[in-house]
Formats: sequence, structure tokens, C-alpha cells
Amino acid sequence: MLRTGFGYDLHRLESGYDLWLGGIRIEHEKGAVAHSDGDTLIHAICDALLGAACLGDIGKHFPDTSSDYKNVDSKELLKEVMLLLQKERYSIQNIDTTVILEKPKLAPHIESMRKQLAAVLQLETSQISVKAKTNEKTGLIGEGDAVAAFAVCLINRK
Ligand code: MG
Repeated sequence: MLRTGFGYDLHRLESGYDLWLGGIRIEHEKGAVAHSDGDTLIHAICDALLGAACLGDIGKHFPDTSSDYKNVDSKELLKEVMLLLQKERYSIQNIDTTVILEKPKLAPHIESMRKQLAAVLQLETSQISVKAKTNEKTGLIGEGDAVAAFAVCLINRK
């Protein structure tokens, strides 16, 4: 049985915060304002995986009202999501994502993100795609005040 999932996330960017994307810390004068480490890409992937398995969303499993998840490393959340899917006997076929960020350029970090995500999910790098776009200087993202990410995935249960 094949199932698809879709996830989206957005975080505001402000100085004084770190910028984490795909499990990699990226040098920038601003970072994601969040209860967790604000890894927008990982959050979108978590929601895609949970959605594919019809297991709710990231807010249901890791509420931002809980002190357990204060400044939590989002890789830990992704690991938990993978375990939830494994418990339901699902395996991940592939994940495709797009990050929308005006700056800095993400091209130099894409391969590290794919490797990092594959390591957390125990997948091959070829099963994870990360793409990056700007917002053409329009809106909050285009002005450098937010980062967004979209993710889709395919999972199957034998
Ligand atoms: Mg988030």
C-alpha cells in the first residue's frame, strides 16, 4: 500500500537566533524564531510523513506548550516521527522538498542537508531531495524576514 504525504512550515527570522535547515546550522545574521530549534525544513518533512500515515501533525505529537520541546534539536523530532511510522509498519520510499529563503544561498549546503536527513531517517541520500528557491524579493520571505519549506513523501506498508 502506497501513501503520499504533504507538509508545510514557516518561521519568522530575527537576529539573535540560529538558522537550522535540514539538520545543518547555516551561518546567517538571522535565525528562526521558534520554541524548538526552528528547523523549518525538518518540520515540513515531519508533517509530510505524519500526514502520509494519517498520524496527525507535528503540533499534536510535540506541542510547543511543552517544556520538553524547548530548544529541542528537530533531528530528534524527525527520529521520533520515523519510529511512529515504523511502529505502523510503514517504510519511506522518498521525500522531496523545497525551501524558500531569500538569503543566504542554500546551494552550498544542499548535499550536507540531504546526507544529514538520510542519516537520521536511515535512508539513502538518493531517497531525499532538497531544493531551494528565493521569493523574488516579495513578501515577508522575500524581505528576509521568514523562511518556509514544503515537503512531499511517499511511504508504503507491505
Ligand atoms: Mg516549525
